[in-house]
Parts: sequence; structure tokens; C-alpha cells
Amino acid sequence: MRRITLGTRLTLWHISLLILVLTTFAVVSYRALDSSLRAELDRVLRERADHAALAVESVPNLSIAGISPGLSGEFASPGIYVQVLDETGRIVARSASLGADALPVHDDRLAEVLAGRSFYDVESITGQSVRLYHRPILRNGRVVGAVEVGGSLRNVEDTLARLQAIFVISIAVALIIAAAGSTVLTRLGLRPLTRLADHATRIERARDLAARIPYSGPSDEVGSLTITFNEMLARLETAFAAQQHFLAEAAHELRTPLASLLGNADLLARYGDDAERRAATLTAIRAEGRRTARLLSDLLLSVQADAGWRLELRPTPLADILCYVADNARLHANGVTIALADPPPVTLLGDADRLKQVFFNLVDNALKHTPTGGVISIQCSVFSGQSSATCAQLITDDWLLTTVTDTGEGIPPDALPHIFDRFYRAPGQSRGSGLGLAIACWIVEQHGGRIEAASRVGKGSAFSVWLPFHTSPL
Ligand code: ADP
Repeated sequence: MRRITLGTRLTLWHISLLILVLTTFAVVSYRALDSSLRAELDRVLRERADHAALAVESVPNLSIAGISPGLSGEFASPGIYVQVLDETGRIVARSASLGADALPVHDDRLAEVLAGRSFYDVESITGQSVRLYHRPILRNGRVVGAVEVGGSLRNVEDTLARLQAIFVISIAVALIIAAAGSTVLTRLGLRPLTRLADHATRIERARDLAARIPYSGPSDEVGSLTITFNEMLARLETAFAAQQHFLAEAAHELRTPLASLLGNADLLARYGDDAERRAATLTAIRAEGRRTARLLSDLLLSVQADAGWRLELRPTPLADILCYVADNARLHANGVTIALADPPPVTLLGDADRLKQVFFNLVDNALKHTPTGGVISIQCSVFSGQSSATCAQLITDDWLLTTVTDTGEGIPPDALPHIFDRFYRAPGQSRGSGLGLAIACWIVEQHGGRIEAASRVGKGSAFSVWLPFHTSPL
């Protein structure tokens, strides 16, 4: 089935609306003219009947039959018929305009008029409709006869028929002109939109996210639609490039542990009989396996972060988390002192596992970059929203500031701005995937906080984690 275009639909709506308006106008005008013409005829009939009746009433001595012939001629005119009846209902006079015909006298109507009532009705006389006015003639308060004045309705009907024909023809012509005009105007009006749709289709077919739609028209709806569409293309382009980059980096990161696992498997196959080598190879395989599992879970979390996944926050005591991380790190500290100052007993809304991951990453990084004999200290303090000027975000909430400081090698100044980027590793670093800090940053932001880093090469680094501690859900 052929699809109805927007242009056709708009034209049809215009035409339908026009038909409605013109038809209403025509019907109202027709009705108004109809009732006005009929009212005018009624007024003339009544006036003539009144004059005729008054003329009879004003000559009390003469018989009605004697006066009437003159009257019926005097008050008649072409298309107006006058007929006078005596009190028995006998026709005593008829106007010449009636020719050989007479106005019909029905018993019931006669009875009504002789009872003293005036009224209108319509009769068909020689094939044409005639409006009639019946009026009693009174003398000294007594009904002595009746006058009937008729007016042909032909003029009224002819006028209305002409008006009807004019309306039908002019509405038809107006609709034809409006349909043609509306088609042209709608097409002209929709041309920028059609052009926009054509461009969008071409871009979609070419799968070219770098393309943009040119627009030089006014800043109307089409202009803002074009801008929005171009912005959407730019976002799609960036997202697509980020996705490609992520996939390439993820594949690259997974290649190293996999190659190591395969190499160790070969070693196991070749020297499996040697108990010492077998034990060493299995230890290496386990370590690589753990490393790969961690990498995969980091990659998964990164994808979930991109997909807009949100953490579920529950009341969480931060002190427990910091103690757990410090105790765990001490197990493989390799001669580095891990000092945890007494954390304040504060409960914040958070995801305990993810917060552990944040501090575990920070302490693990510090351990990786701090030589034996160095110190890693974890400190936590509460800041009132009003009193701290360190963090620009602080307004009214209370904040927990946790710092992880090390006395390690430090981070070069040119690397410092990039350490929170995904897959970033400082030059010369081959360990790690470069995902740890990016994930830590995302987790902290999910808690409504922020993470900052400061470092001096050769002196050490300090990572500050600001977490709001609300009493209501974030
Ligand atoms: P990775 O998992 O590779 O360590 P991260 O995102 O955790 O990745 O860290 C990114 C980079 O930041 C690391 O490659 C390292 O060079 C640097 N870095 C992080 N923490 C420290 C630290 N405490 N001391 C020195 N360098 C650090």
C-alpha cells in the first residue's frame, strides 16, 4: 500500500477544515436569508390583511359584500392575492391576481378565523406554494367576515435556489484553488524537512558518522532539528570511537595473560615430570588466572558504567572497609608499612564491595610503586560542609575525606592529568591494565563524591577520596 506523505496529510487536513468552515458558513447564511425572506413576506401579508380588514371595519353601514370587491383589488399586487369571506364563509371578493382561481377555504381554518383568531399557513395553489394569512373582520366586536391574503413563495424559493447554486459552485471552486495552493505551499514549507530527511538517509546508508548535515536556513524548528541531529551524530561518533578503542584495548590487555597462560601450559607439558618446575609453573598459572579474572571483572564493570548502570547504596560503616583493606594489604606488603589512623565511626550511604575496591586499588597501586621500607598511610577525617574550602562541591553536607599517601616513586607531572583515564599507564609501566583508577573514579562519583591525586616524583603520591555522608538517600 502506498504510504500517505505528511504533505498529503496536511493538505487533506486543510481541505477538510475548509469544507467544514465553508459549509457551516453556507448553511448559516442560507438559513438566515430563508427566515428573513419569509419574515418579510409574512410582514407584507399581515400589513395588507390589516389594511383591508380596517377598511371594512371603518365603514360600518355598508355590507361587507358591497365594500370588498374594491378592497380585494386595492390591496392585491402581482404575486399577492386577496380574498374576502363573509361570516358564512362565502367568498364575497377575490383579487384579479388570482385569475379564475380562489384561495382554498377549509372548514377548520374558516372556523378558526371566524372564531376571531389570526394565523398563517401554507397552501399549494396551481402547483406553487403560497403563504396565507387569515384575519377576522370585526364590527362592533363581532366577527362579520374574514380576509385571506396570500403571497407566492416562488420569489423566496427562487432566491434561495440561486443562493444554493452560488454556494455550491463557489465552494467547489474555492476547494479546488485551496487544494492546489495548499499542495504547493505544503511542499514548499516541507522542503527543508525533506532535504533533512534525505541527508539523514544518505548518512545512514553510507554509515558515515563523521558526516554532518549542512544547514544555512533560519533558526526555526528545522534549524534546531538539524543542530540536534548533528549533535547526536557527533555523540554517536565519539561513542563509537570510544567503543572501538575499548574493544581494541580490552583485546590487547587480555592477550598478555592469555599468552602467559599458554606459555605456562606448554612448560607444564614439557617439564611436567620435574616436580619443582611443575609447582612453579602452576603457581604462575594461578597468578595469571587471578590476574585475568580481575581484568575481566574490571572490563565488565567498565562496560556497565558506560551502560549507565547505577550502584545500590546502603548504610555502610567506612571504618570497617578501611580496616579490611589495610589488613588485607599487610598480607603482601613486602616490607612496606601500612598505617591506618583510627577512622571516625561514620556510616555513609554506599556500596561496601565497590568502596573496598576503590581503597584496595589505591593501596595496591601505592604498594606497587613504593619500595621496601616505605610507608603507606590511610587517614580519614570528617569535614563539615560549611567549614571546608578544599573541595568546590561542598555546600551543606558533611564530607568524609580519606587519603592514601605513599612514600613511593611518585607520578611524573605530565602523567598526573591522565592517570584516571581508562587504560592509561604511566610511561615505562608494564604492570596493570590501566583500569583501576578509572573504575575507582566512577565508583566514587556514583557515591556523589570525587577523587583527586597529588604527587611529587621521588617523594610519593597522595590520593584523596571525598565522600558525602548523607543521612537521606542520594
Ligand atoms: P593500573 O591498574 O595499571 O595500576 P591504574 O588506573 O590503577 O592502572 O593506574 C594508572 C597509572 O597511574 C599507573 O599505571 C601508574 O603509573 C600510576 N599510579 C597510580 N597510583 C600510583 C602511585 N601510588 N604511585 C605512582 N604511580 C601511580
